[in-house]
Amino acid sequence: MEIKILSGKEVSDAVYSALKNRITTLKSKSITPGLAVVLVGEDPASQIYVRSKTRKFLNLGLYSETIQYSASITQDELIYKINELNNDGAFHGILVQLPLPNHIDGDMVINAIDPNKDVDGFHPYNLGCLASGKPIFIPCTPKGIMRIFDHYNITLSGKHVVVVGRSNIVGRPISILTSLKQANANGTTTICHSSTNNISYYTKQADIIILAIGSPEFLKGDDIKKGAIIIDVGINRVTDNSPKGYTLVGDGDYSSLNGKASAMTPVPGGVGPMTIAMLVENTVEAAERTLR
Ligand code: NDP
Repeated sequence: MEIKILSGKEVSDAVYSALKNRITTLKSKSITPGLAVVLVGEDPASQIYVRSKTRKFLNLGLYSETIQYSASITQDELIYKINELNNDGAFHGILVQLPLPNHIDGDMVINAIDPNKDVDGFHPYNLGCLASGKPIFIPCTPKGIMRIFDHYNITLSGKHVVVVGRSNIVGRPISILTSLKQANANGTTTICHSSTNNISYYTKQADIIILAIGSPEFLKGDDIKKGAIIIDVGINRVTDNSPKGYTLVGDGDYSSLNGKASAMTPVPGGVGPMTIAMLVENTVEAAERTLR
């Protein structure tokens, strides 16, 4: 069976095309969607993620500013800064790049973001709306996965979806989204995590497997049934002798899944580009909501 590659690049290009008119309309009303990215400390991976997000905003003619703080900032100081951003009309969205230093309670900081500017969808208000089936801002990675399903006409209704991983950023919200009672969802969803015994017992029954654990090439061809669809969220750096010194791999072992799975998102180029596209879309949405 030849595997179909579910390209996040292709889907994200379609998202950006669809956003063009919405951005033009906003600009005709003197509104440029703006994103504040709050970066604390010097974590190299966070700096790379933030740069790629900011670059995309600027390329699309949107506004984005990275507000960098030293790792020694206190929690109270950071929350004070978030409050300033809540009241700054230039920013329709606020993103706090995680992880934060250990002395800062990330939940307290996320809770300080105005839910109307919470374009990452991590605020308890937005997570609650999602859980009750009336989402406003949906976390970007799970939202991007749902858009991949839509784009490639993958229906979830009547399918068994197995999500491996239960973080608040990916696993938990995608398990809610896939099982919502709505036209493009209606999946029958099982969640696996680090305390699940014999994960392959579940993945072998799955029509669709969503991997979000951060464990390189965890899922093998023998762990799935023929024809399963794999959404690989994992991004893992594996050190090797390549010029860069490392290769990025997903949570799925592409070489053994190829030939058994019917379709799969690549790493890189799968879910990653969709996460950024959904951040842009949520920020445009936040700007539009200021007009309502
Ligand atoms: P977290 O570390 O927050 O959560 C990992 C989850 O996986 C936890 O629920 C954990 O279980 C579970 N888990 C870990 N190891 C195993 C295992 N061996 N078997 C079963 N379950 C396991 O990670 P994130 O959700 O933030 O990210 C997951 C991966 O996705 C990472 O590689 C990350 O880099 C990537 N990612 C990619 C994005 C993209 O845009 N492509 C965006 C966000 C993340 P437990 O709850 O029991 O601890």
